[in-house]
Amino acid sequence: MNLRLPSQQQIYDTAPRWLQRVLVNAEAVRREWFRRYGAYQQLVREHDPAWYYRSRAEQEAWQLAQLNRLLAEVRRRVPFYRPILPDRPLTGLDELTTLPMLSKEQVRRDPFALVATDLDRRTLWPRKTSGSTGTPLTFYLDREATRNHQAPADAMLAALGCRFGEPRARFSGAYVVPYTRIQPPFWIWIDLYRQLQCSAYHLAPEFYPHYLRALREHRVVYGTGYPTAWHLLAMYIREHGDQPPRLRAIVTDSEGISLEQQAVVEQAFGCPVVQTYGTGEVGQIAWQCEHRRYHVLSRAAIVEVVDETGQPVAPGETGQIVVTSFASSGTPFIRYQTGDLATLAADDCPCGRHSPSWLAIEGRIDDRIKTPDGRWVGRLSHVTKPGIGIKESQIAQVARDRIIIRVVPAPDFVPASMQAVVAAAQRYLGPTMQVEWELVERLPRTRAGKLRHVVREVPDV
Ligand SMILES: [Zn+2]
Repeated sequence: MNLRLPSQQQIYDTAPRWLQRVLVNAEAVRREWFRRYGAYQQLVREHDPAWYYRSRAEQEAWQLAQLNRLLAEVRRRVPFYRPILPDRPLTGLDELTTLPMLSKEQVRRDPFALVATDLDRRTLWPRKTSGSTGTPLTFYLDREATRNHQAPADAMLAALGCRFGEPRARFSGAYVVPYTRIQPPFWIWIDLYRQLQCSAYHLAPEFYPHYLRALREHRVVYGTGYPTAWHLLAMYIREHGDQPPRLRAIVTDSEGISLEQQAVVEQAFGCPVVQTYGTGEVGQIAWQCEHRRYHVLSRAAIVEVVDETGQPVAPGETGQIVVTSFASSGTPFIRYQTGDLATLAADDCPCGRHSPSWLAIEGRIDDRIKTPDGRWVGRLSHVTKPGIGIKESQIAQVARDRIIIRVVPAPDFVPASMQAVVAAAQRYLGPTMQVEWELVERLPRTRAGKLRHVVREVPDV
């Protein structure tokens, strides 16, 4: 678990197993104080997924009223926003672009500037993101925000037959056992959530059967967390015919996998896989539908996809995801620049939902490579598509003019198919970049246990 003080972590590391479980449950109690309290089931019902089938006009009218209520409250409660926000209601959602955007840098500089002055700071949840570029970010959420992040997610899960309180397994970077540990178990049972918390950090091939056995023994009925972890287990099941646990669904978060990898997980576990998008600051804001598009949870937030100037991109184009969360006026995030990229759908989704939808999430703005001729090239991860039998891959810039595509091979890997991968990368990066590939056994994870698809291993070039 993410224990807050180093000393707490030391106590946890040296404690016997039973005491670790007590400590983890104590932490879970603290978290639940923030998440599910009061008339919580009523709140979950307000996020009934049937809402997304209503007309776009009806959804937007509700959002505009909600937005104006939020802006008025934030103006009153947060001094930082008083001179910034208009003192009259907006007349349409398009006027949102007249408000300034909020950058991570602004939050990093002074997180308390964004907190309502009427809140007792001791009642806030200090949250930390690892920051994929290596710069961590601390921000604060009040109870209202945390609860309002949880309810839409619980509502979506329930619609898949996965209710809170039924046994589940979660793979994430949460601290379960020391990073140096080399023997199972790499998981712990959290009684309060009925959750088998599994460390994504320790997923090495020799331990896959141990993880699968733990999932079966705890009779988990759904899975959550890092999709790359579920994908590694799926590949193992496919190769070795191991028995998967019987799951109703796997709902992933925190990172993405390709649609091909998603299909592998669905086949191996024999259940639907749903990828979601969200951030710690604003909660979950988009879920895949059965047509693999990401639909914005329009009751939880207004989400814009914008170009460098902050203006909306045209349908079919890619831009940065900017979120205005309805979760709380006490710890607000208004036009928050997530740093993540999405490609807008150009037409209505065949699933019948009318909430805005994205064809894909393209990774982070920082996941770009700078070529020797000075161009920034993003959205590179799809160059590996022509490769046959690639289990996992990572594109690493190791020098100003040199790229290595690292490949973890599956048994059916076809080395000759890498020619097409290299050619695709070369097309994007131009002739001044040398592109190579190499086989590796395992790709490194970040401290949070996540896989980064594009990394720059050179000082800023
Ligand atoms: Zn859809």
